[in-house]
Amino acid sequence: MEAVDIKEENIPRNFITDIIDEDLKSGKEDHVATRFPPEPNGYLHIGHAKSICLNFGLARDYKGTCNLRFDDTNPVKEDMEYIESIQKDVKWLGFSWNGEIRYSSSYFDKLYGYALELIEKGLAYVDELTPDQIREYRGTLKEAGKNSPYRDRSIEENKALFEKMKNGKFKEGQACLRAKIDMASPFICMRDPVIYRVRYAHHAMTHDKWCIYPMYDFTHCISDAIEGITHSICTLEFQDNRRLYDWVLENISIEHRPHQYEMSRLNLEYSITSKRKLNLLVDEKLVDGWDDPRLTTISGLRRRGYTPASIREFCRRIGVTKQENTVEMSALETCVREDLNANAKRAMAVLHPLKLVIDNYGTDGVNDSELTVANHPDKEDLGTRTITISKELYIDKADFKEEANKQYKRLKLGYEVRLRNGYIVKATSCEKDENGEITCVHVEAVPNSIGKDVEGHKPKGVIHWVDSNNCYRAKVCLYSRLFNVANPGAVEDFLSTVDKDSLEVIEDAALEMSLKASKVGDSYQFEREGYFCVDSKLSTENNPVFNLTVALRDTKKAFV
Ligand code: ATP
Ligand code: MG
Repeated sequence: MEAVDIKEENIPRNFITDIIDEDLKSGKEDHVATRFPPEPNGYLHIGHAKSICLNFGLARDYKGTCNLRFDDTNPVKEDMEYIESIQKDVKWLGFSWNGEIRYSSSYFDKLYGYALELIEKGLAYVDELTPDQIREYRGTLKEAGKNSPYRDRSIEENKALFEKMKNGKFKEGQACLRAKIDMASPFICMRDPVIYRVRYAHHAMTHDKWCIYPMYDFTHCISDAIEGITHSICTLEFQDNRRLYDWVLENISIEHRPHQYEMSRLNLEYSITSKRKLNLLVDEKLVDGWDDPRLTTISGLRRRGYTPASIREFCRRIGVTKQENTVEMSALETCVREDLNANAKRAMAVLHPLKLVIDNYGTDGVNDSELTVANHPDKEDLGTRTITISKELYIDKADFKEEANKQYKRLKLGYEVRLRNGYIVKATSCEKDENGEITCVHVEAVPNSIGKDVEGHKPKGVIHWVDSNNCYRAKVCLYSRLFNVANPGAVEDFLSTVDKDSLEVIEDAALEMSLKASKVGDSYQFEREGYFCVDSKLSTENNPVFNLTVALRDTKKAFV
């Protein structure tokens, strides 16, 4: 973990820190133990980052501990690939977990024992209603449920039947273990919830040892208690389930008593924060895997060029509350933009190259061939680099017009601009192809004008360029929003909201030569264009491919 200043005033305040402070003051707790409990059924997304920053952040700020626990109770959907990617993402975000990784599945023996204890106390029974009947008997928000005919079986009978379940004598759905609570409870989750079910599935960790699996609500609270968690933080949809969390722990013989607190989940505009739906996008090949740079998965954001610090900062700014809300995408983008503006080296890259010829190149005062330029306008420690200049350069197609009004601060015939880091030039003529498209611009450079004002010359703007005789022709990927509606998750057929034009590939942008040596992890500000990073999937040795991370300013440009 990065060194942080743990002065109290640096701890971000929220209702959870209020609770912790109170617990520490009253002596209810003498330390803080949290956990991050992902279900390994997909890659982590930006919503998980909020939970990670909160749980690991509390452990850091209160000098406590945070466990990483895989909540692997559903053997059907879980996979080693996810278990590995989740560890990688947590580490990348800058956090380290307490001791070994935990798995709910490593508590299966204990969980079985606690289920038996409930049976022995007359607090659980084996039900043989079908799943449909169980649903029907459960009732509704307005109507109480009704008791299963199997509810009043004797303890001995329940023990024998549960044993039978464990030994594979029931088919899936034929029997389950239910907690005996109250079929008339106003909280549906308390109407005799299922706590064990039969599943003939291979489990990533326990392999074929079990054919019965504990349900989430039963597993989670007990896992928290086994691990000595003090503050178990989850999202608001588990608010009602807190009753069940507490009921289970009150009715089994376990010493430690964790408490559950709920916060609102992060919803982000133009993004999906559901692993199930992300999985669909991947399966339907609408994106280039879980790390597609248009996805707000942690791996997608990493590939897009987001820094861990920028994601942590985003999580700090959104805070932790109980109010449901949706955060604008620009809030996330601002964080990475600020980070890269402060820390990324500058470079010149022409995305849509147009030839520019300096007709008087080689004459007095217009014969420089190398220029030393700063890598960052404010950070001298980022050093300088050498770029070359020659008679033929590339500028961007959008930076030249034959004629334009005063608002156009770029190059036009008869007017002057400054080439960034280079000469003041005046456009004198242009060439066109048979379709009337401009293929080349001719300019005259003002002698001795590099890095200097020259009397009588007032260039109207600055444009970037690269040396056409010494540049790296690269592939550059531009991304815009993946979805064409702000809340794709609310659209039933959300796959139909995918914008098929959200990836634009430029095959041969002209980049300054120094960029050819860039490595995965390097980010730059391409001057006047935006922030770009080296793509981790498409790049090869000495042939980096660049991804647009974010535009320079919060304009529509990056997204249209
Ligand atoms: P998903 O719907 O993506 O599967 P989940 O809540 O089922 O989400 P888990 O793997 O169970 O995913 O979540 C691990 C932890 O991350 C949980 O504590 C959960 O509350 C938290 N979490 C998940 N999504 C969000 C979110 N959008 N905002 C805040 N916390 C979240
Ligand atoms: Mg889940």
